[in-house]
Amino acid sequence: GQVYNILGWGDPYFTVNSHGHLTVKPHGRDTMSGQDIDVHSVINEALATTDDGDKKPQFPMILRFPDVLKNRLDSLHAAFHGAIDSTGYTSRYQGVFPIKVNQNKAVVQDLVAFGHGYSYGLEAGSKPELLIAMSCLTKAKPGAYLVCNGYKDADYVALALSARAMGLNAIIVLEMEEELDIVIEQSARLRVEPVIGVRAKLLTKIPGHFGSTAGKHGKFGMLADKIYEVADKLKKMGKLHWLKLLHYHVGSMIPTTDIVYNAATEAAGIYCDLVKKHGATGMTTLDCGGGLGVDYDGTRSGSSDMSVAYGLEQYASSIVQAVRLTCDDNGVPHPVLCSESGRAMASHHSMIILEALSAIPEPQDNEDTHHRLLSKIQDLSSKQPRTAHSVGGGGGAVDAMHSHAVELKKHGIEMYKLAKKLSKRVTGDASTIYNYHMNLSVFSLVPDFWGIGQLFPMMPVSRLNEKPTINGTLVDITCDSDGKIEKFIRDGVTLPLHPLDTAEHGGYYVAALLSGAYQEALACKHNLFSGPTLVRVESSGGGGGAFKIVSVELGPTAEEVIGTMRYDVKNDISDVIEKVATENGVWPMVEPLMKKGLTTMPYLNDYKSPKTTF
Ligand code: PLP
Repeated sequence: GQVYNILGWGDPYFTVNSHGHLTVKPHGRDTMSGQDIDVHSVINEALATTDDGDKKPQFPMILRFPDVLKNRLDSLHAAFHGAIDSTGYTSRYQGVFPIKVNQNKAVVQDLVAFGHGYSYGLEAGSKPELLIAMSCLTKAKPGAYLVCNGYKDADYVALALSARAMGLNAIIVLEMEEELDIVIEQSARLRVEPVIGVRAKLLTKIPGHFGSTAGKHGKFGMLADKIYEVADKLKKMGKLHWLKLLHYHVGSMIPTTDIVYNAATEAAGIYCDLVKKHGATGMTTLDCGGGLGVDYDGTRSGSSDMSVAYGLEQYASSIVQAVRLTCDDNGVPHPVLCSESGRAMASHHSMIILEALSAIPEPQDNEDTHHRLLSKIQDLSSKQPRTAHSVGGGGGAVDAMHSHAVELKKHGIEMYKLAKKLSKRVTGDASTIYNYHMNLSVFSLVPDFWGIGQLFPMMPVSRLNEKPTINGTLVDITCDSDGKIEKFIRDGVTLPLHPLDTAEHGGYYVAALLSGAYQEALACKHNLFSGPTLVRVESSGGGGGAFKIVSVELGPTAEEVIGTMRYDVKNDISDVIEKVATENGVWPMVEPLMKKGLTTMPYLNDYKSPKTTF
């Protein structure tokens, strides 16, 4: 387990047991002995199930652990309650789950059920998400927030107002000033009094990929002055009491508590001005959005998009302290604190299980390539552009200097690329790299790896008491050359793996962990591979084994996936094939194959038993 830094990113939910198997502690630190769940046993048990139609589960699989989800939710609330109690904050925490992070029925319904006692609510960013929220929140405690974010048209606003009429606590958060007119119009039409919030565009920014959400040029929200204009407009209409909430979201994966603190201070300042200077005394809530990060690489460094330098407690206490101080300074009552933490709630509760199909060595042209790269580097260093004159071309001193700078930059980049290639080859020489073909589509299972270079901890599920002797990369079964994982946490270009030998060890499975947030929502259908089998695993609560498999939902069939591309599967596909196969006298051969092709998952099902090819 140490090879994979499981102690870093895995704490307190993941460990390795005495059989050398990846193990889940479903209640985190509160997991008692005997409650640990052996992931290898879960996979084998799930594989042994069949559905009513006798179809078997296939890889890839997502294993969901709702107990972990509950533990995350309880831990977040404990963190805020702790910070509130210890600082004398006089209001409370009341959070929401942003549905966009994982819209699956089980995830949303579980969170609403687990959060009942906390009045935990939901955040929606679109009309379909709002419909999900409206139905799920009928089971929540009255008063739980339904925060309606995102760009809105009249239908969205009307739907949100109808949610209020149903007795749900829907709050329409204005992203733009124009949305206020829609709210006024629709509320008059439906005769429903709205509760509104405004989204602040803060100047506090986070570095890196996720930072573009905030700052002056951020896509969403209004700068402070615009917010005050909205308040003044409401006041003129005698409707300032509609305004109850101020919202901000500076981006996902806030790397440090400094930024958490600064953003909360800035937002609390706007909140206080609304109350004190603009008379919005009916304000009740400050919604701090998402951004509570997950330490994917387990370094706690906060120095990249993969890591954050804090835990739940420090996050909560930074917000509580910042808001308390700002409000006290301004003599404004402490608001209810809301957060829309998504990634931090959902990431840990599920893992993706991939199955190795085969492993082959990456072709090596080592000696030749090595020498060619070296001599190219030497050649480039001897040709380094030296003076402005030598590259200037007679366009004046400034032009000459400019083109010299461009030339130097180009030269530098080329040198850097060559050196990188060379260092990769040197590693390759030390030990061959093996491409492990995995039953997976990167685009469907870990789309953030492909889209934004996000890394997830990955490790074999078994044989963890056996030294992994192979440097592997993971290659998917799409026809796309991007469908390959050759970057791993802790700067690895390979993942330590074991030689495949199913005769002795059975299937070889690799888990991608902390993958419960965003991946299912962002999944794309490249090659029409689509979704995995979903397995729900609960701790058994004593008696029998440590776990019970509550449900195994097979992934979408090829027929369903084809249907999403606007084919009518009967008219456009099966009838056409049947007609031509019949004309050729081969329908009896084609029919069962076509049926199987359409009714099973598009991933590989029948393949030769996996082994490493030396
Ligand atoms: N709230 C809003 C408005 C968002 O845009 C997002 C995600 O980008 C979230 C909440 C969830 O953020 P996170 O997953 O970082 O908690």
